[in-house]
Amino acid sequence: MLKITNLAVSYGAIEAIHGVSLEVHDGEIVSLIGANGAGKTTILRTISGLKKADKGEILFDGADLLKTEPSKIINLKLAHVPEGRHIFPQMTVEENLEMGAFTDGKDMAANMADVFERFSRLKERKKQLAGTLSGGEQQMLAVGRALMAKPKMILMDEPSMGLSPLLVKEIFSIIREVNKKGITILLVEQNAKMALSISNRAYVMETGKITMEGNAGEMLKDDRVKKAYLGQ
Ligand code: ATP
Repeated sequence: MLKITNLAVSYGAIEAIHGVSLEVHDGEIVSLIGANGAGKTTILRTISGLKKADKGEILFDGADLLKTEPSKIINLKLAHVPEGRHIFPQMTVEENLEMGAFTDGKDMAANMADVFERFSRLKERKKQLAGTLSGGEQQMLAVGRALMAKPKMILMDEPSMGLSPLLVKEIFSIIREVNKKGITILLVEQNAKMALSISNRAYVMETGKITMEGNAGEMLKDDRVKKAYLGQ
């Protein structure tokens, strides 16, 4: 579904991503883990067209994303839940969800009903200003907003950031559920243990390069991964 080949990305004169290749197949959850500053967010931003690449190729469902206008990428049914959520704090829950939709009228109402069915906590708070939601609720809203576009794939950047352990569990179980409904997921996470436990496969990034890839279950047992990323 997503195939990145030999991607290089720079900030000014400094190259942050040095020839990364990775693949996500239809129906998978794939994690991208690695230390702070390894380049994980940059990869997601480049896929979404928010950051320009120097070279390489990103194919999504056959379309070449590096040659697609950023505003058109969402129409390809590829959604992005950015780090820090980026919800609109002065708008209500309902209005935030509307911002994620690319339809109106009946379809929008049906999509919103789907989101509210999955997130009853958002339904109860649909008239509440998003800025007054708890951190976990804001994260749910960010995921709900992505779902409004009926994506085939979601790029998720650090969904567990700043959440209590209980909410982290809840968010990961939501990600799993979303995936079970047929949505493919590329997940960037600091919480490597949780990420690997819900993923099919994973890639480890270090300073702009992929240094390891494989089956997520096997990575959980790998001594190098345990030592560097699982604190074991
Ligand atoms: P984290 O887990 O801390 O978010 P990350 O793996 O997502 O880290 P990136 O945010 O992609 O890493 O950063 C990769 C590298 O690019 C880092 O060295 C970072 O300092 C640099 N970088 C990121 N954004 C910018 C920017 N806007 N301008 C200059 N350099 C940047």
